[in-house]
Amino acid sequence: MPILSIKTYPDKLLRQKARLVGKIGREVRNLASDMIETMRSADGVGLAGPQVGIGKRIIVVQDIEDDGPAAVFINPKILRKKGSSRICEGCLSVPGVTADIVRPESIVLEALDVDGKKLKIETGGLLARIVQHEIDHLDGVLFIDRVGFLRRKKIMKQVSKNVCMEL
Ligand code: ZN
Repeated sequence: MPILSIKTYPDKLLRQKARLVGKIGREVRNLASDMIETMRSADGVGLAGPQVGIGKRIIVVQDIEDDGPAAVFINPKILRKKGSSRICEGCLSVPGVTADIVRPESIVLEALDVDGKKLKIETGGLLARIVQHEIDHLDGVLFIDRVGFLRRKKIMKQVSKNVCMEL
């Protein structure tokens, strides 16, 4: 299984809105397993299609609280959001940068799996956080967009330093 190359900021492909996946066949399953392989080799916990130059609504996530297999969510949609939490995020496409980001604490997620089966999952904590971060990628949004302009400028100055920004 090939390791895909990960696009990094400011690559324009990261800004495109990804299209819905139509037929879920072998091609999509191969893409999903390549994405999982790529995520793992980069020590990541999530990866979205646009990050590997594929403008399709597919994400892979690793639940780091539960050491099980990585999950694949196709055409994911957040049906409900609840609460709010602040967690330090990073991104394989914005290497060397981390920042505290506020997002809903728990979500109800609807998606298709690699067999085209519909899933509905209620989740919180880190998994909910990773899923929201990855769905942002499908809409061309990066986590650094979720901080204010001045803070973002500060973050970009920190690009090469691996510290969590106090925001
Ligand atoms: Zn990311």
